[in-house]
Amino acid sequence: MPELPEVETIKNDLKKKVLEKTIIDIEIRQNKIVKNDKKIFVKKLLNKKFIQIDRRGKLLIFMINSDLYLLVHLKMTGQLVYKDKKNIIAGGHTLTNVNSELPNKYSHVIFSFKDGSKLFFNDLRRFGYLQIVDQNGLDRVLIRFGIEPLTESFRLPIFSAIIKKYQAPIKAVILNQKHIAGIGNIYADESLFLAGIKPDRKSNSLNNEEIKKLFLAINKVIKNAIKYRGTTFNNYVDASGNTGGFLKRLKVYGRKGEKCFGCKNEIEKIKVAGRGTSYCPGCQK
Ligand SMILES: [Zn+2]
Repeated sequence: MPELPEVETIKNDLKKKVLEKTIIDIEIRQNKIVKNDKKIFVKKLLNKKFIQIDRRGKLLIFMINSDLYLLVHLKMTGQLVYKDKKNIIAGGHTLTNVNSELPNKYSHVIFSFKDGSKLFFNDLRRFGYLQIVDQNGLDRVLIRFGIEPLTESFRLPIFSAIIKKYQAPIKAVILNQKHIAGIGNIYADESLFLAGIKPDRKSNSLNNEEIKKLFLAINKVIKNAIKYRGTTFNNYVDASGNTGGFLKRLKVYGRKGEKCFGCKNEIEKIKVAGRGTSYCPGCQK
């Protein structure tokens, strides 16, 4: 699932390509993906331009004007793929079958721009969505998001109050988008490893020192993951040849049975909050 660093990466890539281009066609091939009435959706976007792209947690916000926004959520398996004569730039879910044609059977919405370039919304499992909202609608969506790493809102006292409030496993608390926005399975496991905290510990059992360690670990892991363009197998690259480089830097996620880089114990995998969870029994208490 694309998390904060992957969504941030595709946001930054798309900003260089799609802003200020007139949308001359919108093809909706799967109605379920679009949350609005299909006709209204097309009418609102046709002949318009995206003037800005923002992100909140894992949600992308394409601004059309100060009272019209396109929300794009990639959920489990969503991808955005931009294509023009020279470049194919993709982001989101791990891109298997990337060399197949575009559009393919997972391309559910296609935007065509005046200069001949296209933007595809692909989604294997179709949990993702596109939605047009006005300013009030946007406000109603954004109010549901918690504090966000690497922003002003992410402060130790606020973080600490959240952690101390809940009895649920610590991993469940940091995965909850209403508490902390942007973290998913990969970066939860990596942050808890870096902080030395076992993922199934009760959140309110963490002491102040552990809370601070986790706070710093989340910021560090997210910052590093953005620097390396997230964790994806990404065959589509831009002219500079960049792909999702954090994959090689994972310490526990996807490493079940392999040796911990620190203590050499075997990385174990358990279920926490219904999610497959990798951790090191030697390093995490
Ligand atoms: Zn270890």
